[in-house]
Amino acid sequence: MKPDQSHIDRWLLARKQQRSNRTHALLLKGLLEGSVSTLSQAITLIESNTKEDIQIAQKLLSSLPEPKQTAKRIGITGVPGVGKSTFIEQFGMQLIKAGHKVAVLAIDPSSSRTGGSILGDKTRMEQLSMQPNAFIRPTAAGHTLGGVAQYTRQAIALCEAAGFDIILIETVGVGQSETLVHGMVDFFVLLMLAGAGDELQGIKRGIMELADLIVINKADGENTAPAKAARSEYAAAIHVFAQRPDQWQPRVVCASGMNGTGLDEIWNITESYFNQLQQVGILGEKRQMQELQLFDKLLFEMLQAQFFAKAEYSELYKSIRVAIAEGKIKAYEGQAALQERMKDNP
Ligand code: GDP
Repeated sequence: MKPDQSHIDRWLLARKQQRSNRTHALLLKGLLEGSVSTLSQAITLIESNTKEDIQIAQKLLSSLPEPKQTAKRIGITGVPGVGKSTFIEQFGMQLIKAGHKVAVLAIDPSSSRTGGSILGDKTRMEQLSMQPNAFIRPTAAGHTLGGVAQYTRQAIALCEAAGFDIILIETVGVGQSETLVHGMVDFFVLLMLAGAGDELQGIKRGIMELADLIVINKADGENTAPAKAARSEYAAAIHVFAQRPDQWQPRVVCASGMNGTGLDEIWNITESYFNQLQQVGILGEKRQMQELQLFDKLLFEMLQAQFFAKAEYSELYKSIRVAIAEGKIKAYEGQAALQERMKDNP
């Protein structure tokens, strides 16, 4: 007798569904119990490219209960070598000793270009990574900035569900990444060095304007006095920035991630920031605005990808660029030519 293919297909589908339901239930249970290995597995699912994984991940994300307490999302940025991982290790250990559960999500957008990850180094944060109440994870590389932001937000939601109440989001200061991280955290900390000069540190004034707290790091040994001087300079520089909608006056402090000085003060400032935001009642509003900005970014990237997926458009785009670069046409003429083509051939 000939096997009935549609019957087999239905059976296979039902089995797949059963497996995915079981995986989903197990993941949800593990997460809510605070299992770090489940959390790790769940993040792997959101980073996956397979349809089945994506479905399970989406189902998992949409079935997460409202967290009992939303985690404090703290962004930490600064150029390579400024001392981020040393700082996070000490700061994280201190928070764990105070009874917190700390997740560190490290973002390295440059790895999508270079293929390697500066943050992938296993020797980083050795002490912290051994703590049962710590979770350290580099987020997926190889995606667009909007993509990275989306995964990181989902990872944040998973960490919250697993009971992590402090989420440190570390990023390497390479241009766009700071704005990316600023758009997904509540409190944004910029680590800087004394005497290195803004230009040298690749820190643009715009980034300083985004910071809620500037830390002059490595303020120890011979560097203590220059750090204090830098602190006054930066404090004067940021004082002239326009008043912010959340009324927060950004602060500048000295610290040493290596010997732990200044970390208590940094935590006190962080807490007073959250208290202020909660009092004014704008923390939720801030997060919603960030969600809106992410939506715009994802939409923009989607449209861009759709545009370039059409060989006809991307060819025309390239030739228009050449013509503009050679001074044969103006930008607006190039844009008009593209618009014309898109109208004729949507
Ligand atoms: P990252 O690249 O920003 O993550 O920086 P690291 O934490 O890896 O630190 C870079 C270098 O600076 C390492 O050699 C650290 O030992 C050193 N370092 C980090 N923090 C401090 C600090 O607070 N004081 C001093 N003196 N050195 C530090």
